[in-house]
Amino acid sequence: MTERLVFPLTEVKEKGFVAVDVVVPEGEFPEAVADGELAGPVSVKGSLSHQDDSAVFEGFARGRWRIECTRCLTPTEGAYEAAVELEVPIDSEKIDLSDEVRQSIVLAQPMKIYCKPDCKGLCVVCRKNRNLADCGHKLPEPETSTRPRLTPRPDKG
Ligand SMILES: [Zn+2]
Ligand SMILES: [Zn+2]
Repeated sequence: MTERLVFPLTEVKEKGFVAVDVVVPEGEFPEAVADGELAGPVSVKGSLSHQDDSAVFEGFARGRWRIECTRCLTPTEGAYEAAVELEVPIDSEKIDLSDEVRQSIVLAQPMKIYCKPDCKGLCVVCRKNRNLADCGHKLPEPETSTRPRLTPRPDKG
């Protein structure tokens, strides 16, 4: 639980609407990113509002993370933005957004992340990063490509 993300509901009950704008140190979400880590604090912005018998939070968690490139394993920094929504009965003592924020960051993580769109990956022979140097090893062409080439290339012998 992250204290900074726990809000009493008294003010929401009185005013019907409370703006939320907090920054949480990344250390409070140690396991939010698989194969990587958060690269800075998590900014949580949104609003708490009184809707019927509920207190509803709607907003976003934003920040930066560092995740290993799927191809060459180089830690790659990028920005994320994750929608956060939570509803609790208005008569609750408080609303705790910590779990919801952590979950939203977990779900925002893409299946694949690349250090650059044309990352060459690691050499399958010597495991060197082929973006940094051409080790000279020839890679076997994949038999089947999942993505067809847009422009046909003439075969080179
Ligand atoms: Zn890469
Ligand atoms: Zn090689």
